[in-house]
Amino acid sequence: MQVPASFEYRRARSVDDALALLERFGEEARVIAGGHSLLPMMKLRLARPEFLVDINDLHELDYLRLEDGEVRIGALTRHRSLLESDLLGRHFPIFHDAERVIADPPVRNRGTIGGSLCQADPAEDLSAVCAAVRAVAVVLGPGGRRTVPIEDFYLGPYETAVGAGEMLVEIRVPVRPGAGSAYRKVERKSGDWAVAAAGAALSLTGGRIGWAGIGLAAVGTSLVGYRRAEQALVGREPTEQVFREAGRIAAEDCDPQTDGRGSAEYKRHLAGELTRRALLVAAERADRAPRAARSDTEEG
Ligand SMILES: Cc1cc2nc3c(=O)[nH]c(=O)nc-3n(C[C@H](O)[C@H](O)[C@H](O)COP(=O)(O)OP(=O)(O)OC[C@H]3O[C@@H](n4cnc5c(N)ncnc54)[C@H](O)[C@@H]3O)c2cc1C
Repeated sequence: MQVPASFEYRRARSVDDALALLERFGEEARVIAGGHSLLPMMKLRLARPEFLVDINDLHELDYLRLEDGEVRIGALTRHRSLLESDLLGRHFPIFHDAERVIADPPVRNRGTIGGSLCQADPAEDLSAVCAAVRAVAVVLGPGGRRTVPIEDFYLGPYETAVGAGEMLVEIRVPVRPGAGSAYRKVERKSGDWAVAAAGAALSLTGGRIGWAGIGLAAVGTSLVGYRRAEQALVGREPTEQVFREAGRIAAEDCDPQTDGRGSAEYKRHLAGELTRRALLVAAERADRAPRAARSDTEEG
């Protein structure tokens, strides 16, 4: 049986309490949310934190609401709440697409968006989603509150901009009028990690693409940085040919490795094809998208 190395455990009573514990225990402390990534890593001794700060009682970090033209998601919001949220379904159906294919109900009942982003696994579906919609992370620490655009949040595989003594508390997603979004994933079996996956978001203005975002999962060390493909979309009409070309560029710019899930060549092919398909659905949804953000909706 695999057991983690010994550690001390504290259950935080408030966000301030969690921050105080993180500061007190320093570099050796780790937040635990759903535990679905951290605990397996501890059992395999790939992570050996000496102190765990449990944030599961911090219900103030479990919410979804629309505020100042952004959907704001508390870091402790579970996969299941994201899947069931009407607010997200209305503004960012890409989250629903992704949540339908993330793991299984036990994992979705417990795993959180904060844990998913902080894990920074290059195959993490929500990370690719947040890259596509250009989410902004709100990080709290001894130095106060700071906002970090998703492009700067990932420093590399399993590494983020959240420093020692800090916590991710919120994810903000700007609502763009006339925007649509979608996520497409190929997995070996239901609930498995992606062989490859693509998220796309775009807005349409006067029949042309005004803005576009792309995030890919499981096809390299980076979930972000598909700027060339995004730029190939802006100002163009949303046609099949334009989407195919953007997919081709995204496939060129990713860096998949051959492993048990497939060859690098196969994954590169999927990256292009799934980007094309996600863009196509995002454009269809953009046509039906709300024209303006309402600020009176609250969940969680
Ligand atoms: C069987 C199985 C299948 C899975 N399949 C998929 C899949 O198909 N697709 C997919 O994307 N994911 C999958 N996952 C991962 C799942 O989505 C996890 O829920 C997620 O990766 C981590 O969320 P968590 O809340 O459990 O994080 P935890 O395991 O608690 O934490 C993960 C990391 O984030 C840190 N952390 C957590 N919250 C914060 C915070 N607020 N501030 C700072 N640091 C924080 C922790 O210290 C740790 O380093 C799977 C997991 C399992 C067990």
